[in-house]
Amino acid sequence: MTALYRRVAFVGLGLIASSMAHAIRRAGLAEAMTGTARSAETRATAREMGLVDHVCDTAAEAVAGADLVVLCVPMGAMEALAREIAPHLAPGATLTDVGSVKQSVFDAVAPHLPGHVHFIPGHPIAGTEQSGPRAGFADLFVNRWCILTPPEGHDAAALDRLTRLWQGMGANVDLMDAAHHDLVLAVTSHTPHLIAYTMVGVADDLRRVTDSEVIKYSAAGFRDFTRIAASDPVMWRDVFLTNREATLEILGRFTEELFVLQRAIRQGDGAHLQAYFSRTRAIRRGIIEAGQDTDAPDFGRIKP
Ligand code: NAP
Repeated sequence: MTALYRRVAFVGLGLIASSMAHAIRRAGLAEAMTGTARSAETRATAREMGLVDHVCDTAAEAVAGADLVVLCVPMGAMEALAREIAPHLAPGATLTDVGSVKQSVFDAVAPHLPGHVHFIPGHPIAGTEQSGPRAGFADLFVNRWCILTPPEGHDAAALDRLTRLWQGMGANVDLMDAAHHDLVLAVTSHTPHLIAYTMVGVADDLRRVTDSEVIKYSAAGFRDFTRIAASDPVMWRDVFLTNREATLEILGRFTEELFVLQRAIRQGDGAHLQAYFSRTRAIRRGIIEAGQDTDAPDFGRIKP
């Protein structure tokens, strides 16, 4: 494939940026890549790995001359970085980000940008519970969705080029309004994470079940909660701080459903429980049919 960008600059060099760097290099989507991270340690690791062509000590240096700049930092850091890099962004450059919440990132970043920059926020729906530059891999985005939330009045050519970049990394691209994105993700990602955090916390607090029993029998469902609950604490703190309204709305609905199920259990209402679980099973089938997960028993951990 011919390169889509002359120079891609990453601000932040963690899981998402390193996966993008691997994928862009593999597909030849950029002529050159630069990057920077907050700590000297991460920058040294990225240099040692040869993750990008040039690891810079400052964000200003990394973005200078780039025709695509990707903010790959926790959402709480985006505004300060936008202010820092704004004077150094090249005319006609595209700025994007990979933050998990879209409206608040737009509100934090857009006011600082010069008019000659095309800001097109994005969110790859792909990740792992690992962090840092060594956590990335080129296949992370393959057959995953990337949601772009172009603001009103966006530049069509810039959007088209960014869309082709994500497709070149193996992703499918959808366009959405930022507020709708935040509601969808509150249902599919943010609230489930909160539930996993809570369940792992409950197991930790419950002294009648020993730690060794929890670990020994965790394959019965708890293990998947622990994987989710091991996700980066800073990133997830920011998710709930920045997607407050949508998460609270979904949590309210969740709590209501939970009370209904609680009553069904108390009253021995097996018909209600079975009907409910049949409906949820159908949702799981739908996810598999859409190619978004495996139908192997226990997510493929059990080898046939
Ligand atoms: P990560 O592996 O923890 O990497 C974060 C990077 O940001 C690190 O290079 C870190 O530098 C840098 N950074 C942190 N605070 C900074 C600051 N104040 N100023 C400058 N740089 C700073 O995180 P990630 O998983 O790649 O996540 C990055 C973004 O992607 C987040 O906004 C997250 O919401 C989004 N996202 C994550 C996932 C996922 O599953 N992980 C999925 C989709 C989207 P140091 O290493 O030097 O601290």
